[in-house]
Amino acid sequence: MNQKRIAIFGSTGSIGTQALDVIAANPGLFTAEILTAQTNDALLIEQARRFQPNVVVIGDDRKYETVKQALADTNTKVFAGEQALVEAAAMDCYDMMLAAIVGYAGLKPTLQAIQLGKPIALANKETLVVAGDIVMRLAAEKKIPVIPVDSEHSAIFQCLVGEGRNKIEKIILTASGGPFLGKKPNFLVNVKRDHALQHPNWSMGAKISIDSATLMNKGLEMIEARWLFNLQPDQIQVLVHPQSIIHSMVQFEDGSIKAQMGLPDMKLPIQYAMAFPQRIANDFPRYDFRKPSNLTFEEPDTKTFRNLVLATDALYKGGNMPCILNAANEIAVYAFLRNRIGFLDMTEVVEQTMQKVTFIEKPTLEEYFDSDGEARNFAASLIHM
Ligand code: NAD
Ligand code: MG
Repeated sequence: MNQKRIAIFGSTGSIGTQALDVIAANPGLFTAEILTAQTNDALLIEQARRFQPNVVVIGDDRKYETVKQALADTNTKVFAGEQALVEAAAMDCYDMMLAAIVGYAGLKPTLQAIQLGKPIALANKETLVVAGDIVMRLAAEKKIPVIPVDSEHSAIFQCLVGEGRNKIEKIILTASGGPFLGKKPNFLVNVKRDHALQHPNWSMGAKISIDSATLMNKGLEMIEARWLFNLQPDQIQVLVHPQSIIHSMVQFEDGSIKAQMGLPDMKLPIQYAMAFPQRIANDFPRYDFRKPSNLTFEEPDTKTFRNLVLATDALYKGGNMPCILNAANEIAVYAFLRNRIGFLDMTEVVEQTMQKVTFIEKPTLEEYFDSDGEARNFAASLIHM
């Protein structure tokens, strides 16, 4: 494999830093050419000094001078602001984008990269939740791969390698159940931020950790899977598997089921997406079937974790409904993280926003942007009341 030049959008996050670990461990395979961060200037500077990228972008433009000065003695170009993210995505200096920004903010740079014909390693699931039809259509037009980094979707992708046009009967998305598996609303009503941030199997950014605790993450992943693998809503099933060893499964039309397994470690799907179709040797710990352990499975408790019902409704309804769901959820999660609303209130905010914002069956990209804005405003108005 030639050395692949990677642009990491969101390099200071949980996925971004692990991707840099993979690059550092495989200097013959990868270089980091673009690094971007929203606010963490100190880490971005440290990463730039170590990996010597062509370009860095700091989202928060108040930090431009600090970053610029700290890198003045290097060849790295420094840009700042939201528009600079899109401009960096349009540059020629990289071969693949790792889309690792969190939330809606990842959509525009990713679309720009696809427009330019750059393959995408996609961690930013919200991009597909918001505008999956447009994103995947553009990728197909440009004939570029969108390779999932999300562990469940990486599992499904890996199960599909070599299957050609063989028909999928359904996919089974596994869910750990998060830190509150088995809990009921009378417990959840009192849950606070710090408790909700403690995930049993994965260490992740704040937003996805809360989404995992509310099961919204699995809802977003159903919608992500629908677009990545061109599935109908009724082909997607969620199964709780608390040990997170089976990362997901595909059942084919002959009834045969393939699963992809391993210890939970995001570096695996990250390096798989970056190196595809090659696999890279590593010395990460291995799962050992001989050690006593139980792999267990159960139905999700949708009476308690109603976000899964809301996301399923959005998946079936289609149009701009997943975009509305996502926008309201982002507002609700950040309000919960700032202790402005309770754990169960997050679901209320999403549900009421879905009822209120104008439904559009076949939105244009502009209409997705507008729906996102409208949903954010409405969700925020519920919180400030
Ligand atoms: P994180 O919060 O740790 O990092 C987010 C990154 O995005 C940071 O570099 C931050 O600077 C940048 N960012 C945040 N807001 C931004 C904005 N408005 N504009 C530009 N950049 C911004 O998040 P994470 O856990 O690394 O997750 C990143 C994405 O990957 C999410 O979409 C998440 O759902 C997905 N994902 C993460 C994991 C995981 O294990 N962390 C697993 C599967 C999928
Ligand atoms: Mg996942």
